[in-house]
Amino acid sequence: TIGDNFDRTVQAFGDRDALVDRAAGRRWTYAELAAEVDALALGLHEMGVRKGDRVGIWAPNCAEWTFTQYATAKLGAILVNINPAYRSHELEFVLGQAGISVLIAAERFKTSDYAAMIDEVRPRCQALREVVLLGGDAWNSLLERGRAADPAPLSAIQLAADDPINIQYTSGTTGFPKGATLSHHNILNNGFFVGELCHYTEQDKICIPVPFYHCFGMVMGNLAATSHGACMVIPAPSFEPKATLEAVAEERCTSLYGVPTMFIAELAEHDFDSYDLSSLRTGIMAGSPCPVEVMKQVIERMGMSEVSICYGMTETSPVSTQTRSDDSIERRVSTVGRVGPHLEVKIVDPETGLTAPRGEPGELCTRGYSVMLGYWEQPDKTAEAIDKARWMHTGDLAVMDDEGYVNITGRIKDMVIRGGENIYPREIEEFLYTHPDILDAQVIGVPDDRYGEELMAWVRMREGKPPLTAESVREFCTGKLAHYKIPRYVHIVEEFPMTVTGKIRKVEMRQQSISLLG
Ligand code: ATP
Ligand code: MG
Repeated sequence: TIGDNFDRTVQAFGDRDALVDRAAGRRWTYAELAAEVDALALGLHEMGVRKGDRVGIWAPNCAEWTFTQYATAKLGAILVNINPAYRSHELEFVLGQAGISVLIAAERFKTSDYAAMIDEVRPRCQALREVVLLGGDAWNSLLERGRAADPAPLSAIQLAADDPINIQYTSGTTGFPKGATLSHHNILNNGFFVGELCHYTEQDKICIPVPFYHCFGMVMGNLAATSHGACMVIPAPSFEPKATLEAVAEERCTSLYGVPTMFIAELAEHDFDSYDLSSLRTGIMAGSPCPVEVMKQVIERMGMSEVSICYGMTETSPVSTQTRSDDSIERRVSTVGRVGPHLEVKIVDPETGLTAPRGEPGELCTRGYSVMLGYWEQPDKTAEAIDKARWMHTGDLAVMDDEGYVNITGRIKDMVIRGGENIYPREIEEFLYTHPDILDAQVIGVPDDRYGEELMAWVRMREGKPPLTAESVREFCTGKLAHYKIPRYVHIVEEFPMTVTGKIRKVEMRQQSISLLG
């Protein structure tokens, strides 16, 4: 279980750095972290939290998030990650859907008054017994109670590797978030193998600007670190490019994580060259398609020579495929690698369900230790996603080459069908990215009377570059892309609509585009 694994690391590396919270200006060794975790676990136990109870955490990245992650794992309580961007309506949904009895929350963050939103929904949330605001009196007395308590009950709790331990809601890129229920076995293995992939040891320091509420932060970050004795560095409560670069430089981090948009923002910082990033060796880029050009810059300008691309989803704990540092550069920049250790991946024709010939696109399916237990209290949705042979159907379109390298070509839901041609927006995005004035581009399908769907490109210009016209974008594509792949509409924007995990919400873009075209 996660608790056993954590305790072993504490025994082996008690005096090594475990956690740095830069915003709070605090740091903990593994022995110090273990003391906080045990105090919190016992405090929660005294409060009446038992195995299987749902404990919610609603806060941006902070050390207390990590304490709560390991304390609940030790108790066998099910940690429910609540998206820090949620507002009262969504909070109420999660509190009710997951039946949360104890909620640990930040008091406020930026413009979000969490405490006020909790007060607002509390009368309607039957299951919710206790609310503990981080850093307040209730939090401090919870820890004090835990420190004074008899530790015996903790070791008496019977835990099994397949127990549910965590409910993580998906990013909500394509619709309403779903609560993936994950076990110790699911996420501890995934964290461990990510640590192996990155060759972590107790000498490593991992800079984690990705949210803890998402598996990228709490599994690929925290569990990969604690299973290898490495140190977790929280650069800021939520993503800030400057704070991230500063954390890497000042803490001498060896590894840096991010979704592509985060790396794009860091590379675009005007004083990028003034940060000493020479300590960086490795890192992970995942979560959405990575433009080849960005990957090249991450290797060359950030010095992350061993960086890996990982592909996965919340429902699979998350990683399914990965590039490895011994893959050729070409493959490392242009594919999401091969299937991870002890996992299976296949590409199927979505219509027939049969395995597609190598080189042919189809839906990626995966099977193995990583596949979630199911969607929390949504057996119908679970049955749609996981078939009888235990294959998880990802909804992602992919192609696998003869040697097993996978390319994600889009999401089934994103595919545009224009006049009968299947178009993968990803291909056009990659091409637009090669325009020197374009910082980032996203392509979507919008309804069209004649062709069923037409392409529209949303484009962000590089700083100081004047907006391109639709004509000039089309001219740039002419002769390079088949005529039907050339976007008919171009919309210049400052930002794309994003989820908190930094993913672009194409659903939202599509809605806005439709009203734009009126
Ligand atoms: P929802 O399921 O709520 O719509 P989501 O699928 O974005 O949201 P996550 O579980 O956070 O929620 O993301 C998993 C998805 O992210 C994958 O299904 C895939 O589409 C995309 N993805 C992850 N890694 C990569 C990658 N390396 N390259 C391309 N796409 C990726
Ligand atoms: Mg999904």
